[in-house]
Amino acid sequence: MPYLSIRKVSKSYDSHVALQEFSLELERGSFLAIVGESGSGKSTLLRILAGLAVQTTGEVWLGDRLIENPAKKLVPGYDEIKLIHQDYQLFPNSTVLENISRPLLNFDPSYRKQRVKRLLDQLGLDAYSERFPRQLSGGQQQKVAIAQALAVEPEVLLLDEPFSHLDRIQKHKLIFELKELLHEMGTTVIFVTHELDDALRLTDSILILQKGKVVQKGNSRDLCEHPKTRYVARLFSPINLIPDRFDSYIRPADVRLRTKGEILGRVVDQRYLVHYNSLLVQLKNGGQVWEVDDPFRKYQVGDRVYLHFDDEKVLVLKS
Ligand code: ADP
Ligand code: MG
Repeated sequence: MPYLSIRKVSKSYDSHVALQEFSLELERGSFLAIVGESGSGKSTLLRILAGLAVQTTGEVWLGDRLIENPAKKLVPGYDEIKLIHQDYQLFPNSTVLENISRPLLNFDPSYRKQRVKRLLDQLGLDAYSERFPRQLSGGQQQKVAIAQALAVEPEVLLLDEPFSHLDRIQKHKLIFELKELLHEMGTTVIFVTHELDDALRLTDSILILQKGKVVQKGNSRDLCEHPKTRYVARLFSPINLIPDRFDSYIRPADVRLRTKGEILGRVVDQRYLVHYNSLLVQLKNGGQVWEVDDPFRKYQVGDRVYLHFDDEKVLVLKS
């Protein structure tokens, strides 16, 4: 039996459908990232899972328990399921230690002390325990919020774009650290984000959400190599339409640049990116412009190039 079972959950706001028959099953301790553009229904879904919002139809089960929505429950939300979002509020006049202790106030003091000590240690916050939130960087504050959410040892952690305030380096470091910690704790994690790159750093189990509907679910490599739609394909990289073929596309990284061949073009733009130069190549026939990776940084604006690709790399996408 799956641990978390989401069964045909829909949510409408007046006439607007935010979530459409969303179904998902997760094993205990597994990680899933849900990727979708702004407005695709990610926050709506997480709020329903956390028992903080009412779905229009459908059910959420955690093990053999039905998650009840706030209309039916005296105190909304569950200790077993914690939701963290980017605007998570810390108590400004409480220290880091006090903030993390807060959810544990009803617990035995010696247990509380030991639990908080462990969390400070696990999240690398020991040195900051006596500081106030305003004396911390964004990344450190976010860690305190996460420690606070983990204090009661939730079984399920729902992350709603909690790293959006952080710069890239901080974010990648925090994702890496959290990944280890949460695996160690055996927590079941759903991470929603509009940044595919962040999702891939946490897990290779990815679900793509678009306009409240599941477009595709699978491991990252499968999604990249066999996207079902252009939308999914473009999350990974731009795609170039192949002339004279229907619905056929090729990724910039799958195009080879040669000095002879069939498809002739001219480099019209060249940008230096971290791992390669990105070229815009104007095709001679049809005037189309392709984006092509130049991993050896060989080509300049004005160069004539021939473009090659393997047929097995061609993506056929009808929608
Ligand atoms: P995401 O988190 O992916 O950006 P949301 O779940 O916040 O998406 O929103 C999904 C859709 O539902 C959006 O079109 C949004 O405008 C709408 N929506 C969200 N919350 C409300 C609300 N309280 N009232 C009306 N519409 C809402
Ligand atoms: Mg959101």
